[in-house]
Amino acid sequence: MSKLSEVYKLNTFELPRRAGEMKEYELNIEVPEKVGVDLIAVPVGEIIEIDARLESVAEGILLSAEIFAIAKGECGRCLDPVEIVIEKRVQELYLYEKKVERKKRTTPDEDLDIDDELLMDGDVMDLQSPIRDAIVLALPHTPLCSDACEGLCPDCGAKWAELPADHAHEQIDARWAGLAAVELDEPDFKN
Ligand SMILES: [Zn+2]
Ligand SMILES: [Zn+2]
Repeated sequence: MSKLSEVYKLNTFELPRRAGEMKEYELNIEVPEKVGVDLIAVPVGEIIEIDARLESVAEGILLSAEIFAIAKGECGRCLDPVEIVIEKRVQELYLYEKKVERKKRTTPDEDLDIDDELLMDGDVMDLQSPIRDAIVLALPHTPLCSDACEGLCPDCGAKWAELPADHAHEQIDARWAGLAAVELDEPDFKN
């Protein structure tokens, strides 16, 4: 089986299951499907670097990780390419098994908690959702090449930054259009 998400799985068999045991991992994950939002994402084939520290605790394994990646997209104003360097710390507890006492369905909030719980699958820790969440949270919905980006002239599509200060297109305001027509008719009197 070679599902795309397999690359996010970390086998932790080397970490002794005694509370207090610790092990460090350096992972380079080649992204099989882009990770991010519509306008900007870590593209397929890019590397997500992870410095992870795993710690055995009584009920599971505590993951502390630093995530490094580069997201690529387009400026939401001028469409220039934009790169955002992502550096995020995450900490998540992976439980050996679901906490039974939390299964009682009393409020919708508790259901959510159960869905959010991260579980070990034997020795395997699936890093996909914490990595994806960290990256998505680090990304702006509208990426900009710079906060001062002036965007594009709506009439010709050129960049304001590259246009002369007095750049303008001849525009006849609808309110004056009728008047302009009258003025153009005037020379007819001379004929
Ligand atoms: Zn821009
Ligand atoms: Zn223009």
